[in-house]
Amino acid sequence: MKPLGQENIKHQQEVLKNLKRQRILTPNDDALVVYDLDILDRQINRLKRLYPKNTFHTTAVKANPLSKILTYISNFNIGAEVASEGELHLALKSGIPAKDIIFDSPAKTIEELEFALSKNININIDSLEELERIKDILKNKTSLNNRIGLRINPQIGEGEISNTSLAGAYSKFGIPITEFKEKIIEAFIENQWLTGLHIHIGSQTCTQDMLIQGAQVITKLMTDINNELEKNNIQRKIEFIDLGGGIPASYYPGPEPLVIEDYIKELRNKCPELWNGEVLLITEIGRWLHAPCATALSKVEYVKETKNIKTAIIHLGADMFIRECYRPEDDWHHEIGVIGADLKITKGLDPCPYNIAGPLCFSGDFIDKNIFLPRVKPGDYLIIFDVGAYTFSMWSRYNSRPMPKICGIRDKGRKVIMLKAKEDPKNSNIWWS
Ligand code: PLP
Repeated sequence: MKPLGQENIKHQQEVLKNLKRQRILTPNDDALVVYDLDILDRQINRLKRLYPKNTFHTTAVKANPLSKILTYISNFNIGAEVASEGELHLALKSGIPAKDIIFDSPAKTIEELEFALSKNININIDSLEELERIKDILKNKTSLNNRIGLRINPQIGEGEISNTSLAGAYSKFGIPITEFKEKIIEAFIENQWLTGLHIHIGSQTCTQDMLIQGAQVITKLMTDINNELEKNNIQRKIEFIDLGGGIPASYYPGPEPLVIEDYIKELRNKCPELWNGEVLLITEIGRWLHAPCATALSKVEYVKETKNIKTAIIHLGADMFIRECYRPEDDWHHEIGVIGADLKITKGLDPCPYNIAGPLCFSGDFIDKNIFLPRVKPGDYLIIFDVGAYTFSMWSRYNSRPMPKICGIRDKGRKVIMLKAKEDPKNSNIWWS
């Protein structure tokens, strides 16, 4: 069970006291992101314990592109799923070996494909059109060290958030299985370098049943392809199944939307082929791994009072919380707590509700609306929970506001490493030429 943000605040108070003592949190920091490596360790251990032995985990760089976190994660033999040339080079520069990188993107250029193929980076082909490009590049190659898979749209239906659902009847990603099953099988018969199947059905929108259904579709397809290969006297089998990401994180108090232990148990029941040691299982988990690891804090700059509502104006808004602010109807949510400017915990609840507004010139710039908090004063800190995935990685440059410092902590902030320096609005702005 996850507690309310306000109940969770004592731990954060201790962290902030430690960060203040070490001058990581200074009076000049209007905002700060704190990434807890102890929580990351716990998440990694859970993954490693649950999945079958023949699993290779990667993490989706788009969820959290901090280079030092990628480097740290690679020490646990976790690779990177990248979706652009930029993410690919970030992963390489962070020390992730090429063989541990998976390149997924629907828009890979010929140059990017040639580079990835020459560096032993693994590729999931997104479309039959991309397959033709790769066939062309590989015309004269006899051996390859890359794992190459085909991304399938299993067409099991959309989840609750249509914008992050990728397995409806139509999706811009992958090859729809119902229309192209024969062509998919043909591709495996014709191309001996094609060795795996990939799905990714959505992010935060998937129920356990949907994830299992997706896995069932792809394992059944594996069996069908293997049978066809055998029928054609081809001594090959599918070597890997990449299940993508999509395990939801827990943002609300109360029970988790998906308990990973239950999910893996059910996956083992429904797809025992993934446990028989004959096929490598790959994952690309982003949100579930990172979201609980980080909290953000922002100073409250103003509290604007009217009769029925108070508006707390803070220093993080639609710049860091794009989905939360631009798509509030999708129910993106973060628990919020309050710590006083003196780092004391404010007790009780203000009877007047609060809107939490960001700093941007955009009328939808609200992280949350109509919530009850302890009384908030200018100078207090608002603590925003579970911000480790798809928040700072989606930072918007609108209004040219600087990204805050991001620090990594252990032992409630007694040990600190800097993960990203604070941007200085006087000296850096991407619009300067
Ligand atoms: N793999 C692919 C291809 C993705 O597009 C994404 C994100 O949408 C992920 C993995 C990570 O998903 P999540 O962060 O929900 O685990």
